[in-house]
Amino acid sequence: MKLDNIIIPSRDTPAKRWNIETDDGVICHMTQSSCSDTLPPTILLPALCHPHIHLDKAYLSTCNHSPSNTHPGYHDLVPRSGSFAEALANTSKAKERYTEDDLYLRGSQLLANSYTHGVTSLRAFVELDHVTGFLTLTTAIRLKKDFAHLLDMQICVFAQDPIFSTIHGEANRAIVTSALSDYISFIDALGTTPYVEESREASLQNVEWAVTTAIKYKLHLDFHLDYTLAPPVSPKPLVFSVIELLQKHSWVGISKTIVLGHCTQLSVLDDSQLAQLAEAVIASKLPIHFVGLPTSDLYMMGRPEQDTNTSHHRPRGTLQVPSLIKTLGLSACIGVNNVGNAFTPFGTGDPLQLASWGVGIYHAGTIDDARLLYGCVSWRARAAIGINSDVDGREIEAGRRIRGMLLIENRKDVELPGTSNESGFKFPARQRISFKDIVWDPPCVELRSVVR
Ligand SMILES: [Zn+2]
Repeated sequence: MKLDNIIIPSRDTPAKRWNIETDDGVICHMTQSSCSDTLPPTILLPALCHPHIHLDKAYLSTCNHSPSNTHPGYHDLVPRSGSFAEALANTSKAKERYTEDDLYLRGSQLLANSYTHGVTSLRAFVELDHVTGFLTLTTAIRLKKDFAHLLDMQICVFAQDPIFSTIHGEANRAIVTSALSDYISFIDALGTTPYVEESREASLQNVEWAVTTAIKYKLHLDFHLDYTLAPPVSPKPLVFSVIELLQKHSWVGISKTIVLGHCTQLSVLDDSQLAQLAEAVIASKLPIHFVGLPTSDLYMMGRPEQDTNTSHHRPRGTLQVPSLIKTLGLSACIGVNNVGNAFTPFGTGDPLQLASWGVGIYHAGTIDDARLLYGCVSWRARAAIGINSDVDGREIEAGRRIRGMLLIENRKDVELPGTSNESGFKFPARQRISFKDIVWDPPCVELRSVVR
């Protein structure tokens, strides 16, 4: 494969251009070239990653199936109030209708969409409970196999519902436990949702069970945690207990990561409490990564109380990811979470679009911030889910494998219809040459491709 007039923004200034030849995905020749006026530059970048995306409930609100035996309809379950409680209730109803064909189709659509955006790795959350049984998992395993040549897909067996409280808690836990023992070779991570339990005690049981079970099965661990904007009076946010329980069960030394998603409550802590948390995480030496899920958080969090007289006051209510990294020295990244369902009805699921929104959400508008935000949907995301990829693109050189990296092309000209049928209207296209150009103004998918 020959790639000409290539910019590598991770290591060079945009003025430096390369002609690259690959053999079986590895660079065999790499020579510097002069900027070409005739050939628009192409940018070579580390590929994108979804560190946290829900597979089985994607597109429930937008799949528009015509109801049939194999493909149930979900038209009646679109958000009416848009509340979190409604999203939970309607998703539970949707689960009762899942069929294998439906799960496979919506999953394929999500994976195909991800790949065309430039995603080559992901952690797919697959919900298991007393309603779904194993169907969501067995379908995810089919998808993992069928897309293996394009995507490095981790399966996270995920308990969205309580496993230590409510009348279904025990049945839900039994399903997850059986799934782990029957399908362990296909499973990469265990995820739970401690905040849905009915008491603090049950939440702690949930965390401790997940920690010990992940250790038993040698799995990465992934919590949906502290999903509230209520100030923690006492006790502290659950994240502190997670650290203690990981230490109690000697997680240090285990080569699996711990990802903490949402954690919106941390955004209401004061700076000294945040510093205390960062100190606890860093001192623990635990491989803890925070994943901000800003599109879901902004949609669900920060809603005004009923009968308030400040109904226009809407806090962002999401982890301040760049500050976690830059100020507190923590590991963090950002993820899409949901696409086309009641938890996040909007968006295409494009990680680059998410990084772009991060500029506004996080007040992160410098050139360095653009690179950091790109990292949050690329190498930082992969590090969080334990896909060994130190590659932030700086090490690209002869002998290096670049298969699976992302290419972003530029168009030479903009062409529009002219005033008559014969004469077109044409002028040079604006060129994207750096991280800021890509993050501030993400290119359309037609300009993106993955090196094969
Ligand atoms: Zn989630």
